[in-house]
Amino acid sequence: MSKPTSGLSKKVEVRGGQSKNSSIIDTAAFEKNHGSLSFTTKKWDLRFLDLAYYIGSSWSKDPSTKVGAVITDEKNRIISIGFNGFPRNVEDKPSRLRNRKEKYKFVVHGEINAIVFAKQDLTGATLYTWPFPPCADCAGIIIQSGIKRVVSTMPTKGMIKRWGESFEIADIMFWEARIYQYLYPRIP
Ligand SMILES: [Zn+2]
Repeated sequence: MSKPTSGLSKKVEVRGGQSKNSSIIDTAAFEKNHGSLSFTTKKWDLRFLDLAYYIGSSWSKDPSTKVGAVITDEKNRIISIGFNGFPRNVEDKPSRLRNRKEKYKFVVHGEINAIVFAKQDLTGATLYTWPFPPCADCAGIIIQSGIKRVVSTMPTKGMIKRWGESFEIADIMFWEARIYQYLYPRIP
């Protein structure tokens, strides 16, 4: 699946493989594989991915998978945020969080929390997720919400091993529904 790129050439300064604008994204690797995004788009992408990283890694109580999500409008204003966790008032006690099989049934994904908590129409909005792109279950709801662009970091090999099939189905759904998906390489 080919990823759309803007074709503009202004670049973010990159030092030692790390962008000075982001703590988690390897922009040099992205540009090598996909060409460069416009300076403005990349600047905001990196900012909101960093925010998704902060939200997921700091706020999610999930001991193994901490997901952060940010939804913005076309003017880069934040509409909503979310992270993965149990529904409101449902006890997120350690015994439930540690049991992976049981946990999956309780947890609401970060993307869905961000969509549900948004208090405005999401038509044309952008969704940012960290540390991986949306799963197939979330993809359907993202499409139905009107979100038009999904920006994430590339999943690691371990994540692909566990959720690869779901990512692939989500990819197909986004492609067919004309949702633009950008995946930035993470800093190793
Ligand atoms: Zn999901």
